[in-house]
Amino acid sequence: MSAILMAAGGRRLTYLRMSVTDRCNLRCRYCMPPEGVPKLSHEDILTYEELLRLARLGSGLGLRKLRLTGGEPLVRRGLLDFIKSLGEAGLFQELCLTTNGLMLPEMAADLKAAGIKGLNISLDSLDPALYAEMVGRPGRAGEELARRAWAGFQAALAAGFSTKINCVPIRGVNDGQVTALARLALEYPVDVRFIEHMPIGRGDLWRRGAYLPTEELLAVVARDMGPLEALPPGDPSAPARLYRARGALGAIGFISPLSGHFCGHCNRLRLTADGKLKPCLLTDQEIDLRGPLRAGAGDEDLRALFLVAAGHKPVSHLEARAEGAAPGYGREMSRIGG
Ligand code: SAM
Ligand code: SF4
Repeated sequence: MSAILMAAGGRRLTYLRMSVTDRCNLRCRYCMPPEGVPKLSHEDILTYEELLRLARLGSGLGLRKLRLTGGEPLVRRGLLDFIKSLGEAGLFQELCLTTNGLMLPEMAADLKAAGIKGLNISLDSLDPALYAEMVGRPGRAGEELARRAWAGFQAALAAGFSTKINCVPIRGVNDGQVTALARLALEYPVDVRFIEHMPIGRGDLWRRGAYLPTEELLAVVARDMGPLEALPPGDPSAPARLYRARGALGAIGFISPLSGHFCGHCNRLRLTADGKLKPCLLTDQEIDLRGPLRAGAGDEDLRALFLVAAGHKPVSHLEARAEGAAPGYGREMSRIGG
């Protein structure tokens, strides 16, 4: 039998988050600085052929789920054809995508037809003016973007996607939106998930005390929506703890990378748009695949690099820190893929 990707603690790695671009049509305050981040050049980005080859190798090593991300994945030209070729190759049991939703009004139906099963849509505020502030486009134009993001969410539902909403609550910025967003799970069959803000890229926000721990968020939602029923934990590698409010169609989830470390269950690898495999979001460690790929490496050599990445997955937060995690380090989230 061919090799599979095993990490410390007897974990089998089955999930790849693949960033297809570092570019984005927004400048979310917690994700990148207002001026954006230096763009990778066209040649630095892996081509679709290169991505497909790595996807094939990863699948052969036991990866079962692929999530396309960015930057904003929907801004990369040719994405639909790439998704079709992934689907036709039959490499993954689950093919999903994370997006800010702005291009879904035009693209949702085509994404469905191309083979995407699940969509995670980032939405940090239902208030257009606050949304505009948060995505770094204050004023009328930004408010129009808020309406587009909402239309994108509706388009995802209309196309029949399994849909999740992701929100990063920031103290003093959008903490007042938490209940309004959580209430979407009452009306729509979607999971609304709150992700603790991570000290990546925007160290300044972090230092101003932006971080809101899950415990505090949970208390706010329970206060405003009544008692929440904790749903039985399912797949241990799923990062969200899920709850249901009475009569709700969807669940409310909390992802707690800081207050509730789930390193020991993490089953994912990340591939950046410029071809680096990241064993862990919280460390600066990267294994370069692009160099060897372009220098003519054979499949066996590339497979060995996947195995090296698996071997570097930390089993705990403490270990991740020892491997080089520090507030404000390395890449911004937009250049990792979340
Ligand atoms: N542009 C797409 C989007 O916004 O969904 C995909 C890429 S984005 C980097 C992926 C996810 O990372 C988003 O849900 C975003 O909210 C999250 N994210 C970005 N910066 C973050 C941070 N500092 N802490 C926690 N989550 C963050
Ligand atoms: Fe772009 Fe997504 Fe980062 Fe917002 S969170 S700036 S949409 S990559």
